[in-house]
Amino acid sequence: MSIESVNPYSGETIKTYVEFTQQKVDLVLEVAESTYQRWRESSFTQRGEPMHRAGKILREGKEEYARLIASEMGKPLAQGRTEADKCAWVCDYYADHAAAFLSTEYVETHPTRSRVEFQPLGVILGVMPWNFPFWQVFRFAVPAMMAGNTVVLKHASNVPGCAVAIEKLMRDAGFPKGLFQTLLIGSESVDRVIENRIIQAVTVTGSTPAGKAIAAKAGLELKKAVLELGGSDPYLILDGFGLERTAEDCTAARLVNGGQSCVAAKRFIVLESLRDRFEALMVEQMKSYRMGNPLEDGVQVGPQARYDLRDQLHDQVQCSVSLGARVLLGGKVPELPGAFYPPTVLTGVTKGMPAYGEEMFGPVASVISVRDEEQAIRVANDTVFGLGAAVYTSDEAQAERVASRIEAGCCFINGFVRSDPRVPFGGIKQSGYGRELSEYGIREFVNVKTICRVH
Ligand code: NAP
Repeated sequence: MSIESVNPYSGETIKTYVEFTQQKVDLVLEVAESTYQRWRESSFTQRGEPMHRAGKILREGKEEYARLIASEMGKPLAQGRTEADKCAWVCDYYADHAAAFLSTEYVETHPTRSRVEFQPLGVILGVMPWNFPFWQVFRFAVPAMMAGNTVVLKHASNVPGCAVAIEKLMRDAGFPKGLFQTLLIGSESVDRVIENRIIQAVTVTGSTPAGKAIAAKAGLELKKAVLELGGSDPYLILDGFGLERTAEDCTAARLVNGGQSCVAAKRFIVLESLRDRFEALMVEQMKSYRMGNPLEDGVQVGPQARYDLRDQLHDQVQCSVSLGARVLLGGKVPELPGAFYPPTVLTGVTKGMPAYGEEMFGPVASVISVRDEEQAIRVANDTVFGLGAAVYTSDEAQAERVASRIEAGCCFINGFVRSDPRVPFGGIKQSGYGRELSEYGIREFVNVKTICRVH
């Protein structure tokens, strides 16, 4: 069996990788376990040194990494460079803060004092998606490694080149062999990896169906799982102040990474009185984005990552239109080679349409108009997902009130949702459970261990 890396712009096969045999997978896990036995004894300083070096390699090599990402999944170069920089940030951040986040806590348990230690668990499996093929991996692996665990990665099947490049980067940074390893396997082989006694926990970033399948298996094996899944982030536009700037933000938040981000803006919930102006501004903004070869500087929207995903997105648009949505822009598969889908604006989106209830993983904006704040909150929360959200209003009290009533893992005020190593990231409902980043993220894969002295 083989894993093929296909350029979604040209349709050409970049490289074919031979899938690991079961024997090879077992060997990788054994190496990960024996490395863990030594790594768990290392100090935070010893872990931080190669981690800072990994950050440096990312910054120095960002051009090369951006090109690799663009070729394998179609991300425009500028966004790939930003992704590499962000990975470097998370390396430095945890290299500098892991010791404080995991320092022993003391508790008065009269007449003695007890303590809580944060110890590593062992070998952690990460099942990752293609959309931010470097960032998603660094986001889970860096804190897990700084906590003293070792990591194996099963990356998405369309980005094997990125998986191999990350493993090399980690080795070049000076991490011991076995600390970070890639498993070149398909999704059907994941269950057997979870079953292996060496794996202590699994983290998955991907679609809700993948999360459900992996969580079910992890549950059966009684292994901890963290799930970072899909989203349908609502953006609530509640007043006309600075509407031009708001529309600019909303457009950027919808088109980032060709719309293929879990926290891309997906549903625009706009007061009826503002809808016409907002739509006109958004259409104008979207038209100004340059679509093309992701390897060309200046291109802002590349092809979708895979042809089948592009076709799936178009089906969702067509189904929404057949149920009454109107296309203000885009909505047609362009007659171009490559898996392109144009920036699209749908209006008149109502309950029952895919554009209302499903995740639209591409550059399609759904505009839903509402009477007032109360209805806006109701519509925002009327979803199976709960990842991110944003509210735009110049009324500070309204912003705070609305932000606290949105059912999601985060809500941004007057700005678009983005992950940041300093604050926790994750979802509720079908968007998953557990948290990544910040102090909360590094504590997901540790044994919170109580040591109690009785006398
Ligand atoms: P995907 O199809 O679910 O794949 C994600 C990973 O899971 C891939 O490595 C895939 O392997 C594997 N996988 C899929 N089905 C599996 C199964 N039944 N058992 C074991 N492994 C399985 O998702 P994607 O298309 O790559 O990414 C897009 C989705 O990820 C969107 O829904 C997006 O919202 C979500 N996402 C969420 C976050 C977040 O932080 N919440 C971040 C980014 C993306 P193969 O490639 O070999 O199939």
